[in-house]
Amino acid sequence: MNQGDSDILRGSIGAKYELVESVDKGDVVVINSCGVIDFTEKKILRRITELKNKNKRVFVTGCLARIHPEKLREITDGVFTIDQTLKLVEAIGGNNSLSVQESQDRWRLPKKRLHHSAIAIVPISEGCLGYCSYCAARIARGRLRSYPAEHIIKEIEECIRDGFKEIQLTAQDTGVYGFDIGSNLPNLLKRISKIDGDFRVRVGMMNPGYTRKIMRELIEAFRSRKIYKFIHVPVQSGDNTVLKDMKRNYSVNDFVELVTAFKRAFSDVVLSTDIIVGYPTETEESFTKSVELVEKIKPDIINITRFSKREGTEAYGLKDLPGWIKKERSRLLTEIHRRIGEDINRQFLGREFEVLITKKGKNGTFLARTDSYRPVVVKSGKIGEFVRVEITDCNPYYLVGELLS
Ligand code: SF4
Repeated sequence: MNQGDSDILRGSIGAKYELVESVDKGDVVVINSCGVIDFTEKKILRRITELKNKNKRVFVTGCLARIHPEKLREITDGVFTIDQTLKLVEAIGGNNSLSVQESQDRWRLPKKRLHHSAIAIVPISEGCLGYCSYCAARIARGRLRSYPAEHIIKEIEECIRDGFKEIQLTAQDTGVYGFDIGSNLPNLLKRISKIDGDFRVRVGMMNPGYTRKIMRELIEAFRSRKIYKFIHVPVQSGDNTVLKDMKRNYSVNDFVELVTAFKRAFSDVVLSTDIIVGYPTETEESFTKSVELVEKIKPDIINITRFSKREGTEAYGLKDLPGWIKKERSRLLTEIHRRIGEDINRQFLGREFEVLITKKGKNGTFLARTDSYRPVVVKSGKIGEFVRVEITDCNPYYLVGELLS
């Protein structure tokens, strides 16, 4: 979502000033900040000091600008929340008047996307309907505001015309898209699937609690070849008591039902989930339940986060667990996931797939994706091309493919 905002920042700032590739060539540096965990905040504060020591003028926008504006004002040349983009543009030029009119519809602001890959990020809404006790994003982004479908369709058509082949729909929670404008995600996906062109769509993070309400329609909308058979559904814990403490609006069984329904509907669906380890009320027993859930559901991707207190959130007042407990639980879950990943990926050895080459990989390789968004590393190819590969090797995190003529 923040990377989508960077496209808007580049478009709006680039409309008035010369954008340069490197910090050293710049007089002014604009940091589009994240505020999700404490580690990230400390990293950004350190970066600001580094840049000020290089005599750069530094402006901060993004989530941290809403979470800690005072702290940032003391050490920067200006702090603007993400919906004060036009004021930021003026302030760079020295005009600090707050009377600059902001566009209420952020999605109307000009965008400048980087063509480093075949991937275009398309935000579909801002904010969410959740009250999760640990979440700072809620403070930064507020309540759900869905963008009009017409605008999203037009933006995707522009991206396809500009040569992008993978559209990443993003939001705080794509599962609640349209709930505030009398529509929903399946409706939007059906309209996107009617757009001409050979491209793929990755649907971003969906909160299980709301997504269950649209599950049947969503599975039907996912039948389009254009929609990657990939679902990112953060469960956060395998223990219902902890889920209650986190103010997550679903049970472990709700999550299992949703995931199982997708796995039944599609022969190959990639499941990505998130787990917070070390939430203050997480006991050894409740952590064991998270491990059991992972063993049962076998997610392809697990984003493991150690609980981090965020000021302004309900969980901020809770007694934190010792760091070594969080570290040990994170290590254990990482090890379990590595083993699951190895077992899953070995099943694909020798199989052939059509894949889309989306971006450069490491050491001169390229990263491609199957129709289930499985990552396949190939030695050669052209970004944006669909090619046929045979899977010749794998590791817990990706497959290796040989191009077939
Ligand atoms: S659904 Fe919960 S975790 Fe997600 S952005 Fe909203 S409050 Fe945060």
